[in-house]
Amino acid sequence: MIPYGRQSISDADVAAVVDVLRSDFLTQGPAVPRFERAVAQACDAAHAVAMNSATSALHVACMALGVGPGDRVWTSPNTFLASANCARYCGADVDFVDIDASTYNLDPEALAAKLADAAERGTLPKVVIPVHFAGQPCDMDAIAALAQRYGFKVIEDASHAIGARFGAHRIGDCRYSDITVFSFHPVKIVTSAEGGIATCRDPALAAAMERLRSHGMTRDAALMTGEPDGPWYYEQIELGYNYRLTDLHAALGMSQMDRLDEWIERRHVIADRYDTELAALPLVLPTRAPGRRSALHLYVVRVCTGAPIDRRALFDHLRASGVGANVHYIPVHLQPYYRKFGFGPGDFPVAEAYYRGAVTLPMYPTLQPEEQAHVIDVLKSALL
Ligand SMILES: *Cc1c(COP(=O)(O)O)cnc(C)c1O
Repeated sequence: MIPYGRQSISDADVAAVVDVLRSDFLTQGPAVPRFERAVAQACDAAHAVAMNSATSALHVACMALGVGPGDRVWTSPNTFLASANCARYCGADVDFVDIDASTYNLDPEALAAKLADAAERGTLPKVVIPVHFAGQPCDMDAIAALAQRYGFKVIEDASHAIGARFGAHRIGDCRYSDITVFSFHPVKIVTSAEGGIATCRDPALAAAMERLRSHGMTRDAALMTGEPDGPWYYEQIELGYNYRLTDLHAALGMSQMDRLDEWIERRHVIADRYDTELAALPLVLPTRAPGRRSALHLYVVRVCTGAPIDRRALFDHLRASGVGANVHYIPVHLQPYYRKFGFGPGDFPVAEAYYRGAVTLPMYPTLQPEEQAHVIDVLKSALL
């Protein structure tokens, strides 16, 4: 089966992990800050805080921005569960903003309309979490302008988008947001097996996230309320978690960062070929918005209404032909957990219509030309 996404592990990656195993530190050693610096450098971030997953990083990001019970957090319905769950961990109420029909990202016009309405009712969100779906940056200019106007904070869920750019800005530099979160899960662009990093500009925010990833502990005398009774002294000043990344994971991620640009280049070559070869089929192909450099985490096509077969039949045909197609994403508001809060079908019609036709095709840097040719042939035989 040709998977929809796949990690690529080099001998150098293996050696980097083995080196850590033979070193003094398996966790909380030098590999984590090295990985943080590599990611910060790659995306022009002032600060980078590594955690054991992007989910943990999203949770800590919400906490660091003060999200709590009674607050509202808005995100896209076209995302992985974690973009919404992070707010629920803090006891906040989650709501969604429908997506743009061509980028599948949170629609800034829908956001503007919803904000105007919320301002009247006194129900403005504390945080909005735009998701750079499939690696394509959201319209961050528009979102940042709305954040200014209505006074909410922005966390970019850039789990798909390390290496992407919005205009001249690298995703992660937080030019348009308070915090940006990356995932290093194996299906993402760069992997540390499990892992996530939160970047930000504000040093106080970075310090808060560092504390929250490790039990809310500090050794900073300025933050303590008591007198140290020895050099071993530390204080817990708030409730944090054990969300630390290990040195093993950090060494793998660090080693992978060398190939980031090359991999994204490869993803664009693969997307170009799909764009050309699938153009005549009854599929809606993904768009790459001008002025933005997508990281192309996913290549999603939509089956047109009126195609010879529907999405389900196409999906089954791909799987039966050795193509590990997938679907991203079931709209989060339709999950049973979120329906309990009153959400249901029809609430976010653009995301729901998108979902009904969506199929994710194989896309990863080591996808071989003959494998891609097979994917294309299978699609042609099903749809022409
Ligand atoms: C993968 C993913 C996450 C969660 O990442 P983990 O590192 O697996 O916790 C969050 N948001 C989006 C959009 C993702 O794709």
